Amino acid sequence: MFLPDLDTDIKFMKGVGEKRAAALASELDVHTVGDLIRTYPFRYIDRSGFQNIGDLIPSDTSFIQLKATVIQTSLLSKSGGVVCEKDGSTPGPDSKTIAFNAARRLSCLVSDGTGTMELVFFRGIRYTWTQLEPGRTFIFFGKPNIFNGRMNMVHPEIDKADSALAGGVMTGVYPSTDKLKNSGITGKVMNTLMHTALDNCLDRMQETLPEYILKEKGLVGLRYAIRNIHFPSDQYALEKATYRLKFEELFLLQLSLLKQKFIKSRSSRGIVMPKVGAAFNKCYESLPYELTGAQKRVIKEIRADLVSGRQMNRLLQGDVGSGKTMVAVLASLIAIGNGFQACIMAPTEVLAQQHFANISKYLVPTGVKVALLTGSTRQKDRKEIHEGLEDGSIGIIVGTHALIEDTVKFRNLGLAVIDEQHRFGVDQRAKLWGKTNNGIPPHVLVMTATPIPRTLAMTLYGDLDVSVIDEMPPGRKPVVTMQITDSRRPALNRFMRDQIALGRQVFVVYPLIFESQELDYKNLEQGYENIVRDFPFPPYKVAIVHGQQTNDVKNFNMKAFAEGRADILVSTTVIEVGVDVPNATVMVIESAERFGLSQLHQLRGRVGRGQDKSYCILVHGDKMSKESRKRLELLCQTDNGFELAEEDMKMRGPGDLEGTQQSGLPINLSIASLAKDGRILQEAHDYAEAVLSRDEFLQGPENRLLVSALRNQKFQKIDYSKIS
Ligand code: ADP
Ligand code: MG
Repeated sequence: MFLPDLDTDIKFMKGVGEKRAAALASELDVHTVGDLIRTYPFRYIDRSGFQNIGDLIPSDTSFIQLKATVIQTSLLSKSGGVVCEKDGSTPGPDSKTIAFNAARRLSCLVSDGTGTMELVFFRGIRYTWTQLEPGRTFIFFGKPNIFNGRMNMVHPEIDKADSALAGGVMTGVYPSTDKLKNSGITGKVMNTLMHTALDNCLDRMQETLPEYILKEKGLVGLRYAIRNIHFPSDQYALEKATYRLKFEELFLLQLSLLKQKFIKSRSSRGIVMPKVGAAFNKCYESLPYELTGAQKRVIKEIRADLVSGRQMNRLLQGDVGSGKTMVAVLASLIAIGNGFQACIMAPTEVLAQQHFANISKYLVPTGVKVALLTGSTRQKDRKEIHEGLEDGSIGIIVGTHALIEDTVKFRNLGLAVIDEQHRFGVDQRAKLWGKTNNGIPPHVLVMTATPIPRTLAMTLYGDLDVSVIDEMPPGRKPVVTMQITDSRRPALNRFMRDQIALGRQVFVVYPLIFESQELDYKNLEQGYENIVRDFPFPPYKVAIVHGQQTNDVKNFNMKAFAEGRADILVSTTVIEVGVDVPNATVMVIESAERFGLSQLHQLRGRVGRGQDKSYCILVHGDKMSKESRKRLELLCQTDNGFELAEEDMKMRGPGDLEGTQQSGLPINLSIASLAKDGRILQEAHDYAEAVLSRDEFLQGPENRLLVSALRNQKFQKIDYSKIS
């Protein structure tokens, strides 16, 4: 007899065949029996009991299980006419004489003593007709619908009243698609296949975790876990099985990331910067404010990296306005103090200009020469800057992508600071590495205001160090956030006029420009026209900025607003990143329900930067989805970016997280969820560290299983160099 093995092609398994195998491969990435076994239910249905038809509530749409007896079975034609029927009162028609081809639908009336229900079948009519003999009792399982005011069930699963299912507690529900269903792989078939696979292969599955880990972490064995994840014997067994498999998945992920990090930190040499230097001290002493505790801590962390002899690869996260720029400046000055240069890259021209202006102020007492290089730097100045960088007379260069052009050469670049990392591609960052002439790569500090939830950062940047500024400079007033509907626009306009009369400025942000016809959202152009109508010149000056303008026009308008020459700036989300206009006190976000949570938070961070009380007004339509409503409510409730990021991830799922550029995570998790299993991830992380601290290279015999488990993990195939 043919016995399938874990590596056996799935098409050879009983009940599969070519067609179903193709569907399993394309829909679930299942190619072998082993792959099938590693496809887990995403939820479970309790089939331990039966519902009474008489107790069913029409609005309840969950699965039900009935034990009911067939009263009457009918075949109906396209027009609804009866082709033939049987109710047990007579012997019934001879099935050889029945015109099955004329039947479009089979209707079966069943009763469980508390009530009756109609069951409807469109497929497998001939077979079902013979099966549903009046007087016989079955277990029916499915989802009830309301049809013509009555409840029915379409294509319920049918089992014999004495089938093993009747005793089962929970049935797994597997991922499914139309293609799977059309090839005959229903939930029931999936369960049957899984039974066959486990019956043949479970005994041969090898434990993947060393004995000592199972003991130390109190985990159940692999076979127990696999059996119970598919066919839980009870709730407790299911929990044990789930925990074991999630822990294993996250533990191996952390182990592989940490191992790479260890290797990397041993192998990549970094410039040693032992001194703090006079420039740092002069700047520090003349700061107009005291650094926050978080800023000081982060600078210490950076200092430690710079003396370690290894290349720094640090991600600095801090909410908008938390003071990341100062950290970048001080880190750059350490590089200067050790005889190196530093560069600070910003994603947009406007931001680069702003950074340059701010940084220049801080640098006055130090005498360090700083220059600005962007796409619009004039040729003559550009040449001078190139020379200054090559001869080392320029200490700090601030700029945009222009900095990574081949013509830009440094005398000795020691530190690269990259602001708002998600706007820069990995390749672009890598180009900076080539800009040193001593062969040692510069230290890298990546700054982002998009708070990445801890769990995600741990996974994505497991091989990167993460610093967090989790404290705002003192005296920051929370931005008053409120949501209004369109109908309150006159009041909003009055409010904007009042603020402008006080000398303040207003941002108005729109989600889309020239959106599709069928979506009825106000677009930017229309919004701009309305504003110009409601705020005529004089006295009001309105500027507009959007992605379809040329850089010159964009910069011109942006500057007009930044320098206070315009009262209102109408724009798309181009202003999302970094722009600092302390005099702006109102952020109006149109069609706010169209934005993601993090994005709304980023936009809100554009106001509340000065001494004046600031406002964020979310304008939304009358109809909102539940999620949109929740997003706007959350935003009104908290101004903590990290809290919002966590919530965002829970609502959207991590693959979708804004600003991380990971459209689809580089990691394929089969059971754990980054959004929901943060606690297990933390445990797995700590434990992976402990295991590596005992056996750095996993060379001990007790860790042999881990080495092969790491080799077999799916996520190993992914190129992590794409991340850092
Ligand atoms: P972000 O983290 O968004 O880049 P910035 O570095 O632009 O924040 O800082 C926002 C504002 O806070 C700036 O005007 C800056 O001068 C000010 N600032 C930074 N650190 C402090 C501090 N420790 N105390 C008071 N104000 C600070
Ligand atoms: Mg900034």
